[in-house]
Amino acid sequence: MRIMAGCYNKHWQKIILVLLTCALTSLSLLAQDVQNSQDSSHQLKQVTLAASTTKAQAQKIRPQLLALVKLSKKSPQLIKTNLKDFIDVKPPLNSAEQFLLAIIKARLAHYQGKTQQVIKLLLAVEPLEKSMVKTQLDQPEFFAFDLLLSQSYEKLKNFDKAYEYKRNYLHKYARYTENQKKHIVEELTKKYQMEKMLKENALLAEQNIIEHKKIQQVKELKSNQKRNNLILITIGISFVVLMYRQYRIRQKLIRLSRTDALTSLVNRKTLFYLGEQLHKKNVAQSLVYSVVYFDCDHFKKINDEYGHQMGDKVLQTITKLGQEVIRTRDIFARLGGEEFTLVLPDEDLSKAKAVAEHLRAKIADYDFSALGIKSGVTASFGVASLSGCNIKSFDQLINLADAAMFKAKKLGRNKVICSNNLAELTLLEQDENQPKLTIRST
Ligand code: GH3
Ligand code: MG
Ligand code: MG
Repeated sequence: MRIMAGCYNKHWQKIILVLLTCALTSLSLLAQDVQNSQDSSHQLKQVTLAASTTKAQAQKIRPQLLALVKLSKKSPQLIKTNLKDFIDVKPPLNSAEQFLLAIIKARLAHYQGKTQQVIKLLLAVEPLEKSMVKTQLDQPEFFAFDLLLSQSYEKLKNFDKAYEYKRNYLHKYARYTENQKKHIVEELTKKYQMEKMLKENALLAEQNIIEHKKIQQVKELKSNQKRNNLILITIGISFVVLMYRQYRIRQKLIRLSRTDALTSLVNRKTLFYLGEQLHKKNVAQSLVYSVVYFDCDHFKKINDEYGHQMGDKVLQTITKLGQEVIRTRDIFARLGGEEFTLVLPDEDLSKAKAVAEHLRAKIADYDFSALGIKSGVTASFGVASLSGCNIKSFDQLINLADAAMFKAKKLGRNKVICSNNLAELTLLEQDENQPKLTIRST
């Protein structure tokens, strides 16, 4: 019985000991729970405070904390050392930073195999998610929260929760990769657009250069054209001036070739040309015209007495006197030496004789003493007309007038003799004392 009682007592002692141990463990756990719940409530207070102050945008995270997140993936020892330093120096923290800090701590607990601790730490900061923007939560640093919780619940065989957090994690991961893709596409688009813009700019710049060159070329072309035009105008003006000068010279030469240098009267060649024209016209139209032929009397004597130059002046004076008696349509010519001719269109013999008489008297009456010539100057005149005789050419009419003039010389000079008789001309030509007529229309 004693033995049985002893055994019975030992058995109960063991039971009591186990119960006591259990009670003590429970008490210690309870104490820990109380402590943890105090920590959680403290954390929750902080979270609520942070949540109330956050704005709807990504919150700033200190670079040291971000570095700590990266380090936390490598080893628990690194987390311990750096976490202590960070907590000593850096708080207070914003909600995003609190969230990240909880993840770092949870990761440490995860390394240490404290699954419950991981869950507790992370669930404590879960409400902070509401105060943070989605895009920030979709960052890998933040969605490690869901992965850690999923892994922890999986360890605890709470597969529902594990599945829920894994799904959250995968959604966030998918959104993150989607955003990353979008971001890359945007970046590429921006880069492409930038390159396109740069190319366009380069193209525009090139076009500008080309335009500028074109403008320069056009300007150059215009200035060249201007210069060429100027040269052309100058050449043109010079040409016109030269041509005009040439024309003037030609006119002068023509005039000189047609006139006599001493008196500016029509010369012998021109006289015969004009006379021939007139003759043809008058014959065709049965019109009349007359010729007066005169020769200065004893002109050789004047030259001998007063000199050749004075003789020239006498000839010029006779020219002036002759011009005073003729009309504008009459022709006044110097045949050579001291011999002159007047061609009087539309004048018959009597009118031509009157003109000759008038001129003869003018010369004879003229006072040449102004030239130093004391003796008088006279001239002998012969007149012939187309009317009333069968004259075939102007040359023949001149010869007839010349013959009449010769007759005037013979009859004592300073006289006017008319002739329209060809027979008279023949007679004169047969006269041996009469010098042969020298006037020919050569
Ligand atoms: P006549 O009365 O018979 O005509 O006598 P003349 O002396 O006039 O005749 P002649 O034919 O012998 O002489 C003409 C002179 O006229 C000769 C020449 O010296 C002169 N003579 C000819 N041409 C010119 C000229 O251009 N100037 C001058 N000063 N004299 C000239
Ligand atoms: Mg003569
Ligand atoms: Mg003479």
